[in-house]
Amino acid sequence: AKEKGRGLVQFYESHWQQEKEEKLRLDAKLRQALAGHRLDVHYQPIVDSSNGLPVAFEALVRWNDSEEGMIPPFKFIPVAESSGLIREVDLEVLRMVVEDIRQWQQAFGGDLPFTVAINLSAIELSADHVDRLTEVIRSSGVAHRLELEITESLMMQDTEESVKLIRQIKAAGIAKLAIDDFGTGYSSMGYLKRFKVDKLKIDQSLVRDIDHDPSDRAIARAIVALGKALDLTVVAEGVETETHQGLLCKEGVPLLQGYLFARPMPGEDVVGWVKERRR
Ligand code: C2E
Ligand code: CA
Ligand code: CA
Ligand code: CA
Repeated sequence: AKEKGRGLVQFYESHWQQEKEEKLRLDAKLRQALAGHRLDVHYQPIVDSSNGLPVAFEALVRWNDSEEGMIPPFKFIPVAESSGLIREVDLEVLRMVVEDIRQWQQAFGGDLPFTVAINLSAIELSADHVDRLTEVIRSSGVAHRLELEITESLMMQDTEESVKLIRQIKAAGIAKLAIDDFGTGYSSMGYLKRFKVDKLKIDQSLVRDIDHDPSDRAIARAIVALGKALDLTVVAEGVETETHQGLLCKEGVPLLQGYLFARPMPGEDVVGWVKERRR
């Protein structure tokens, strides 16, 4: 039995070792992709639930590797978060989004009729990272068309320092600050006011089963009520079916996002998609 036990330990150790090596490999590869500007961004519309018109797009990072093909965010974002490389990813996404917004503005012959939301990783905010982000936002000329999505876990680092840093980003002139995956973490809600939040995104795990889980529906209803009380707008994400749409409309959710309306699309397709819808 002792022999067997040792074998098992060795098995786990080598498995753990393999995972660690795989993470290091992916991280090094991502570093190269960043240096070569080979990441891209796709955009998914967020529509007004009353008329289906797009009011915003969410920018989602894409990594198409020449050898491995599309590497999905759920594979490399956690790796980049543990190494800290996610900061460079978020900054690169911000730069790409600013560039795309400028091009779309030319295509529209003026200011855009929508905003663009960027995801900011939930790892600890540092002053120098926030300085770099605000510098790009401030000098972009399109700050008023940018939104920032941050997760509840970031908000829960409710320290004077993080309040100061989030307010610094808002002061760079962004349109909105949104809380991503809202309703999945447990928190005091007091932070909503302190961080000057503008928008709540109901997590897709609450939307998925909303047609047969009364408690998910009750949570959605409560989030809408909270939004009304605090003057925050509310988005439901992961809207896949007309049943989802119908129920969320009935609960008074003003904004919807999900495959029902569109999958994330390349930047080149955004202007055409918007023009088609607004006809
Ligand atoms: P998220 O911020 O919650 O983004 C929504 C995710 O749900 C996206 O996955 C989107 O493609 C997917 N989605 C949209 N509509 C539907 C739907 O109707 N059904 C289902 N099942 N899924 C839907 P994606 O692009 O794979 O991104 C996954 C996560 O990776 C994001 O979740 C976000 O946490 C992270 N992420 C993506 N881009 C960035 C980025 O530039 N920076 C950072 N820090 N994180 C990012
Ligand atoms: Ca998001
Ligand atoms: Ca989300
Ligand atoms: Ca692009």
